[in-house]
Amino acid sequence: MYLHPRERRARHAEARPHSLASSPTRHPDVRAEAVEQGTMRAASSSRDGHATHAHAHPGRRRLRGAGRGCKLEVRNRITRRRFMYTLNPALVPSPSLTDPLPNPRRRPIRLGGVQRRFTASGAVASPANADADTLPTAPNGQTLMLHNTMKRKKEPFVPRDAEQNKVSMYVCGVTVYDYSHIGHARVYVAFDVLYRQLTRMGYDVTYCRNFTDVDDKIIKRAAENGETCDALVDRFIDAFHEDIDALGCVRPTMEPRATDHIGDITALCERLIEKGYAYSADGDVYFSVDSLPEYGSLSGRKLEDNRAGERVAVDTRKKNPADFALWKAAKPGEPTWDSPWGAGRPGWHIECSAMIESILGRSIDIHGGGQDLVFPHHENELAQSTASCRCCTEGELGLGGGKTNEGPEEPFVRYWVHNGFVKVDSEKMSKSLGNFFTIREVTERYHPTALRWMLLGTHYRAPINYTQRALEEASDRLYYLYQTLVESKDALVDAQAKDAETAGETKTKPKPKPPTGIAAEGIDLAAETNAAVDSALADDLNTPLAIASLSAPLKTLNDLVSTKKGKKAVGRSVALRDLIAAVETTLESVGLPREGGEGLLEELRELTLRRAGLTRDDVDAAVAARAEARAAKDFAESDRIRDEFGAKGVALMDGGNQVWRPATVVDDK
Ligand SMILES: [Zn+2]
Repeated sequence: MYLHPRERRARHAEARPHSLASSPTRHPDVRAEAVEQGTMRAASSSRDGHATHAHAHPGRRRLRGAGRGCKLEVRNRITRRRFMYTLNPALVPSPSLTDPLPNPRRRPIRLGGVQRRFTASGAVASPANADADTLPTAPNGQTLMLHNTMKRKKEPFVPRDAEQNKVSMYVCGVTVYDYSHIGHARVYVAFDVLYRQLTRMGYDVTYCRNFTDVDDKIIKRAAENGETCDALVDRFIDAFHEDIDALGCVRPTMEPRATDHIGDITALCERLIEKGYAYSADGDVYFSVDSLPEYGSLSGRKLEDNRAGERVAVDTRKKNPADFALWKAAKPGEPTWDSPWGAGRPGWHIECSAMIESILGRSIDIHGGGQDLVFPHHENELAQSTASCRCCTEGELGLGGGKTNEGPEEPFVRYWVHNGFVKVDSEKMSKSLGNFFTIREVTERYHPTALRWMLLGTHYRAPINYTQRALEEASDRLYYLYQTLVESKDALVDAQAKDAETAGETKTKPKPKPPTGIAAEGIDLAAETNAAVDSALADDLNTPLAIASLSAPLKTLNDLVSTKKGKKAVGRSVALRDLIAAVETTLESVGLPREGGEGLLEELRELTLRRAGLTRDDVDAAVAARAEARAAKDFAESDRIRDEFGAKGVALMDGGNQVWRPATVVDDK
């Protein structure tokens, strides 16, 4: 079918706002998937502008003129819209276009696999193809795009040790003097998603997250509490683990404490002093920012911006007001360690540089943290580590400027990754504003999985607005999701039993009938969902898109479970199985539980009652009172009871197996 370019653009634009179609320009591979899975009509423009037609079916497809501006009309099964799509020649299996393709209904679809298979089968040589060939791929064949703060753009991820597929990732941990707040929840959920994604793509990841266990705030709090710093630190490390585990985060490979690396810290300070990057003054050691011309490159700040003066009293011991402390001389009553500059303790920034170097090496693949760490913490870490590395190359190889005879200097960090801020009711979260929530305060009232869902609903780099409404909605969505999953699993058991029964009735093995209606659509949709989620997460961890991709499969599952059409569809059990698997795989890839749906639903109900200040007996009594009112035809009273409970977040049901379910409450206090 030939379409005028204007018409094509219009159709294209029309399809854009929807999930799978929303990324046609960025994800040619997703569209190729849609092409491969959809029932589609292909129209390829030949060189003279005339169109040739080909009808394509999954498993049997004819595309003429493909590889040279081939156009396909594709139906997006999620949005049910059609849109025109120009195939990337690199993705078109040119030499054998008339060969039957494997039936996508019969095999799991792997995005990267498709790309590799097509190029391996000898795709058309073209610039686009060259791009596809040179795009770095993870062990699973996909390319991970990651935003690098240093480059201020998304880049394809390539680890240092690409041959062995090893990835080193360091994320700055908490200063353990208090309970963690929702800002911490956001950081560690974001990097948990990245950790899972890298692992899922086949990388062997070493994930290191530290504990800052010596700091002004720790010393002050321990003194206030009349306990030792060690006791305070141990207590809050345990609390941190409890909170972050509850959010479904996988523990890092290692969690070093700063105080276990004092020797590494003093050695690093000595090296920096020796090479003129740092100096000591009255028992303190400072990093000299003027010694490193590129200081400021990560945050984009110029040295003039950093000059202290107006707000902070200028320390006369510093050569430049922007110089920062590597080592602080002992003050009475503080924990101290011996050093070449007398008793003292490390500054904050130096610990990460020292731990990275001693644990992971001079150069790492990913360094992460919240946006607030870009300056000064990460800028200073970068300065220390770059200077430290330069010290050695100059000394060992006699080369200046950090060059080695192996080629250009390996950067301290290949990818700097930072997550956005958390706002509370559109205001900056801060202790002084009183809008400060610890994870525990939130999970007293809402399920930690609901908090995780809420966090995943915003892209990790965008600011997130924490509101009670968002948590209510997240809880509601989770309830719907897990209820659908539990019911679908029950339906699958029934459907499979029925299949076995039918098979047993006939002596000769019946030929399986092809799936029909909703079941056929469901099977396609499951493959599409897997591809859409893979693609979303590979695109700089687009978790909002990944979890939005669950809407269509959940709806189809509900249709298969409860509608007449769904129950009758041939191939129902296969559709249920595939869709359940697609939903569960998605949940797992973003760190949401795939098992234990019943328990989660029960916990969500418990929390709803707790927020409403009700007991199960209260709800039972209300249900009984309503039944009585309805029996007496007093519908006004029945409605009054329903509304009263509804306002508290308890929706009393009028029929079905369920007596009540949680509902969203907006203005609860
Ligand atoms: Zn750090």
